Amino acid sequence: MSIRPLLDLTAAAAAEYLDGVPERSVVPTADALAALGSLRRPLPDGPADAEQVLRELHAVGSPATVATTGGRYFGFVIGGTLPAALAANWMAGAWDQNGGLSVLSPAAAAIEAVAMGWLADVLGLPAGVAGGFVTGATMANFTGLAAARHALLARAGWDVEAQGLFGAPPLTVVVGDEVHVSALKALALLGLGRERVVRVPVDGQGRMRADQLPPLDGRTLVLVQAGNVNTGALDPAGEVCSAAREAGAWVHVDGAFGMWAAAAPARAHLAAGVELADSWAVDAHKWLNVPYDSGVAFCRHPDAMRAAMATAAAYLVRGDEREPDDYTPEVSRRARGVEVWAALAALGRTGVADLVERCCRHATRFAEGFSAAGHEVLNDVQLNQVMVRFGGSDEATRRVIAAVQADGTCWCGGTVWQGRAAMRVSVSSWATTEEDVERSLAAILRLASGILAEA
Ligand SMILES: *Cc1c(COP(=O)(O)O)cnc(C)c1O
Repeated sequence: MSIRPLLDLTAAAAAEYLDGVPERSVVPTADALAALGSLRRPLPDGPADAEQVLRELHAVGSPATVATTGGRYFGFVIGGTLPAALAANWMAGAWDQNGGLSVLSPAAAAIEAVAMGWLADVLGLPAGVAGGFVTGATMANFTGLAAARHALLARAGWDVEAQGLFGAPPLTVVVGDEVHVSALKALALLGLGRERVVRVPVDGQGRMRADQLPPLDGRTLVLVQAGNVNTGALDPAGEVCSAAREAGAWVHVDGAFGMWAAAAPARAHLAAGVELADSWAVDAHKWLNVPYDSGVAFCRHPDAMRAAMATAAAYLVRGDEREPDDYTPEVSRRARGVEVWAALAALGRTGVADLVERCCRHATRFAEGFSAAGHEVLNDVQLNQVMVRFGGSDEATRRVIAAVQADGTCWCGGTVWQGRAAMRVSVSSWATTEEDVERSLAAILRLASGILAEA
């Protein structure tokens, strides 16, 4: 029997979902969440019809989703999914390719290699960088930092992959005080320690102060952040990299979303010097707007990356070309490079630049709207992040955040910035329109004035 009826049904359900997103509440209703209870039943004793399974998923699952794929979701740093990337995701799902080995999928390996080159190009990374497609920036940080760990210890005559860290010469790890928790997690997983780091003070935007760097040497790993999750600010990569290069230290850039500044001519100055680093982590599921999960690790030193990641076994056949699993922690994995390829093929260089620029302009509009209404914007809005505080108090700010989240017009999260509560607005989706911004801004300002009038 043909699979077409099932896939037609799925396409219709998905289109119905996506067509409804622009008008629905960003958060699910209480009824929709309650209906999830109907899924809590014992494992079925026997098989069911696949169309029936899909119908239930759509009926119960779709209304209970958070509309993060729509244009009015501004929490965390969340991209939507470009139409071409969603279509490629379906195609790749149908292919069911194992992206780990070229013998398992010459198509996935070839597409991924092209996507990697295009990504490096659009992000302004040096020619010849190696890359690996992983689940997100957390694993991309892990992968880049593993290459760093290998290289720095190899220089000291230590084979960390063979010997582990017991008895190894110590490395110094330098981070900015605003380092992302996922980078610290990656350090912990690598045995380098979350707390065994030298923290460099930051400025008012959370940027590492290059003039406060400790002495660097050939056993130092410096972690630069390109894109602070609260302010969007990028560390001064150029200054850090030149100091590091002179000392023989390794620089890794956590560029989850901020590295995309390099892709937009009007913002590229913010990322100046990022290209001088030794390794980089970047997300594709944030600002490139491909489906979850998708991030990429890049490394200037392909040998170090391979030494950290490659495995060998008689049955794991190696081809003559780049083997995807030589650059990732995983062996088997989905062919996530396919969606990255499709996104970049559909957008092209100017499309990526426009996407980044548009999000930044929307962020600026939010900041102007907040300021004009008398609310304090806490950051210098140069990228896609805005932090705002209401009524000059933590209490009022938290109440406004709760009201915004309950209202459903849009969704914004909270944070604490340098001791003060703030609401975060992150504009990272291709789907966000000017109308989305105006509608969301109006809702936030209405809720805020209600709460401030009560107080
Ligand atoms: C989002 C983010 C991460 C973690 O990325 P995941 O894709 O969630 O693994 C790391 N660093 C920064 C700066 C981020 O914004």
